Amino acid sequence: MLKIDMHTHLMPDRMPRWADKFGYGGFIHLDHHRKGWARMMQDSKFFREINENCWDPEVRINEYLEFDTQVQVICTIPVLFAYWAKPKDCLEISEFLNDHIAEIVQKYPKQYVGLGTVPMQDAELAVQELHRIKEIGLVGIQIGSNVNNKNLNEAEFFSIFETCSKLGLAVMVHPWNMMGKKHMERYWLPWLVGMPAETSRAMCSMIFGGVLERLPGLRVNFVHSGGAFLPTIGRVEHGFNCRPDLVAIDNPVNPREYLGKFWVDCITHDPLMLEYVLKLQGSKRVTLGTDYPFPLGDLEIGKFITEMELDESIIEDIFCNATLEWLNLTKEQFLQ
Ligand SMILES: [Zn+2]
Repeated sequence: MLKIDMHTHLMPDRMPRWADKFGYGGFIHLDHHRKGWARMMQDSKFFREINENCWDPEVRINEYLEFDTQVQVICTIPVLFAYWAKPKDCLEISEFLNDHIAEIVQKYPKQYVGLGTVPMQDAELAVQELHRIKEIGLVGIQIGSNVNNKNLNEAEFFSIFETCSKLGLAVMVHPWNMMGKKHMERYWLPWLVGMPAETSRAMCSMIFGGVLERLPGLRVNFVHSGGAFLPTIGRVEHGFNCRPDLVAIDNPVNPREYLGKFWVDCITHDPLMLEYVLKLQGSKRVTLGTDYPFPLGDLEIGKFITEMELDESIIEDIFCNATLEWLNLTKEQFLQ
């Protein structure tokens, strides 16, 4: 069975020293301190140690073979978005990262599919890069759950979504820049509490702000199974019904109506939760994702799904059909 992992991160092993180039700090660079490993550094501050499976496409292909997974959808690591930087500098970084991903896709067209990144802080530059993303063969973009703490329903982002819809580019929404981070650094809470909340924040913003309503052709996937959104849909809907004066001010449609219209990945780490997600979304809207190669990901690549005794057709939807439809690709292009 074709298996496509649609949520994986990759970065170049060599990057310009953006801080030297642009004359200010805050950018990530790699310190290759020992063979096969590197430290991601933000100026002089240590961010995370990564392995060569974060940058070497052949190492990754071999690791995926162990789990019978043929295709990886690759995108950058959210900490590289640089939405906070000067827009033209962020554009240059985005071009660099997108070209790198496009090169890998060109070299390994049966193993890799690429999503780009754009300078969300400047819609005009973002739209310009979307056209280029399409030309260089990427099939969509990954964006953050907020942009410098602005929500995705802000009018300034609409032209970006509209262009994605027109160009047929898919959108993956990834949590980052987690709310409340400063107040809950202990116990990895930004990742365990902040990330699911961020994804729900993005979904509620795009639904209540009418983005999904105005762009029914926009194909959006919210990672980590939609974070806190699906488990709290009852509360979200009740809020919409009991306080429409607060909630239904920009879009009169009940949020439950959007279930099954967007995609979510399967990263729940919990069969019971995945059953619930499948019930709400339908198997055509739940995609195989892992967050590879990071430790909080599902690094056995959907093994828990094969152990759930689901119908073969449901497993096939999750493992490939849902992603193919989200990215508007055909199965044939990946057959060896
Ligand atoms: Zn991720």
